[in-house]
Amino acid sequence: MKTGVIGAGIGGLATACLLAAEGCKVTVWEKNDSVGGKMNQFKKDGYRFDTGPSLFTMPFVLEDIFKKCGKSVDDYLEIVSVDPICRYFWNDGVVFDSSVNLPDTLKQIQEFAPQDAESYVKFLGYSADIYQKTAATFLYNPLQKLRDLRKVKKSDFFKIDAFSTVSNKVDRYFESKYLRQFFKRFTTYNGSSPFIAPATLNVIPYVELCLGGFYVKGGLYKIAEALHKLAEEMDVAFEFNTEIKRILSDNGKVTGVLLKNDSTVEVDALFSNADATFTYTKLCGTDVIKPRAKQQFKDIEPSCSGFVLMLGVNTTFDNLVHHNIFFSDDYENEFRQLFIKKQTATDPTIYIANTSYDEAGHAPKGCSNLFILVNTPYLSDEVEWTDEFTNAYGEKIIKMLEEKGLENLSKHIDVKEYITPKDFYDLYYSNRGSIYGTSSNLPLSAFLRPRNKSPYLSNMYLTGGSTHPGGGIPLVMLSALHAVQLFSRDKNQA
Ligand SMILES: Cc1cc2nc3c(=O)[nH]c(=O)nc-3n(C[C@H](O)[C@H](O)[C@H](O)COP(=O)(O)OP(=O)(O)OC[C@H]3O[C@@H](n4cnc5c(N)ncnc54)[C@H](O)[C@@H]3O)c2cc1C
Repeated sequence: MKTGVIGAGIGGLATACLLAAEGCKVTVWEKNDSVGGKMNQFKKDGYRFDTGPSLFTMPFVLEDIFKKCGKSVDDYLEIVSVDPICRYFWNDGVVFDSSVNLPDTLKQIQEFAPQDAESYVKFLGYSADIYQKTAATFLYNPLQKLRDLRKVKKSDFFKIDAFSTVSNKVDRYFESKYLRQFFKRFTTYNGSSPFIAPATLNVIPYVELCLGGFYVKGGLYKIAEALHKLAEEMDVAFEFNTEIKRILSDNGKVTGVLLKNDSTVEVDALFSNADATFTYTKLCGTDVIKPRAKQQFKDIEPSCSGFVLMLGVNTTFDNLVHHNIFFSDDYENEFRQLFIKKQTATDPTIYIANTSYDEAGHAPKGCSNLFILVNTPYLSDEVEWTDEFTNAYGEKIIKMLEEKGLENLSKHIDVKEYITPKDFYDLYYSNRGSIYGTSSNLPLSAFLRPRNKSPYLSNMYLTGGSTHPGGGIPLVMLSALHAVQLFSRDKNQA
């Protein structure tokens, strides 16, 4: 069977491998000149940066993909746990290293929030409980047909805290401002606001703090390279610098694709790893999706975007570990600016991945590669990412970091590169520059993401962070597993 995959992001790569394992002939078309999509890398003057993901969770999902292809992930990647997972800094000098090591964690909490030590353990129990109730029914379930929905235990559906917000629930557990802010931060992992998003997202702390945070030796881009290698070993064909302009269909079925150079390719089944909103609004014609339905896709709220500043600096900072977070003073105001006013935060929380802490080869000797990320609103008329605005925001972040303890940072910069929300759109066509697909700000929005099989075209499937079950590496891998599972179901029924 001749199958095509639009996009070589990690969702497209995993899909291509799984299809090849099913015995299909697979071609992947990618508009850029390399694999990985938002999982990418940048190298300059001896500095090396991952430009997308830096923290890897639930590695067992990736392991499963390799196993389904008859291979072991260990032959392709060296996956190591990160401890501490992340170092958190508050402006009053409090520092907290998060870890899966509970005794160490509680010892630290005794120092800065003794009243909350017991609640920390209770909260992880509550988070684990949401995982138990949502994993089989939501994450590992394509949720496509009635028979998939039957797996959802109705009693559990009302116990997953969809009608409270992350923030309200966290505040009920903790008294200290430190642990309140710490636990609210996890909601940003899928680009949502803890002050709006349903408390169901309190599942994320369990995934990271109990199942662990991981890194791949050499950098996370190795994951994309490993999937690419696996796909090539399975005879998947890749066509780079090849943009798909239109999905061709007849009578409710995809017949092929129209390339940007106006040539056409016929397929028996099509998988889109391009953003779901982009796929439905830009790649499908109005004969397939009526203008009103297209507008509904446009109206889906994207996740937040991000502003990335990559600094190669000719010094090291003793206070930094691999992953670092410098918290803002007023978290609620920060998210109000991002999600309600759609403005950049005046006092943003700043994340820094400093992989040179663990990888000598990522920066010249005695130097550091700082990948700095702050959340920003998705693209709207409120912010125009002109060069002038970008530079000014970058300089502001550098100054803030100097005030927060990275002394004389500005004097040590060898390499400086930016990635803006506009770049995320231009490079990957992600809806309004979002970095995690759609937001999960509404009570049940996590359950209402575009499905992995199209309701419009009977042989079209969708994979990637904008589809079910969501953004982030493990969920994108799951979307590929779902898409190919749904395709196999259809194939077996034919
Ligand atoms: C700055 C940043 C930090 C992140 N941090 C983390 C993290 O720490 N941990 C984590 O788990 N996740 C993180 N994420 C999220 C994670 O990177 C994404 O969820 C994931 O990489 C998305 O993969 P994807 O396959 O869905 O889509 P994409 O990476 O967007 O891939 C889609 C591909 O399709 C191509 N394409 C689009 N349209 C066309 C077309 N018409 N023709 C041909 N090709 C097309 C694009 O060029 C792209 O290569 C981060 C993301 C960013 C940007």
